[in-house]
Amino acid sequence: MIDNIEQAEKMRILSEARKRIVDLQKEKSRIEQNLLRPPPMVPYALIEHYGECGKKVCRCHHGQLHGPYWYLSQHRDGKTRNIYVPKEKVEKIQVLADRYKQYEGKLTQLRAIQKEIMDLLKEIEKSAYVPPSKMNLKRPAERKWKRKNKQGKP
Ligand SMILES: [Zn+2]
Repeated sequence: MIDNIEQAEKMRILSEARKRIVDLQKEKSRIEQNLLRPPPMVPYALIEHYGECGKKVCRCHHGQLHGPYWYLSQHRDGKTRNIYVPKEKVEKIQVLADRYKQYEGKLTQLRAIQKEIMDLLKEIEKSAYVPPSKMNLKRPAERKWKRKNKQGKP
């Protein structure tokens, strides 16, 4: 009775896992379709910066910082690369940088979906395991001995 309830619960969990995988595959495929033809983008973050200058006497040393200045910033191989962006180009470049951020975000989403699918498949895999202890495995010597024993009986 308890075995039956446990079995039913296991089947229910497996069924949920299968449904979840199908949903994730749809979501994954939808995201991938959207990534196939990306619009132009720039692989940097657009950073707004306010700063102090090198003059000894200036308002910026009393809280009135200079700026904003904009930079395209990129971290790669442990190095940071900053490229100055003139004010009149900020609006256009912001669009390009936002697209990159969105694209990267979608890739992160895909990785998370893929990981969830793998985790669910691992659970499904476990449900199909047959423990060797239930396979009636015996050493050949032992088998021979039992056979002999049987034959020996009158
Ligand atoms: Zn200053």
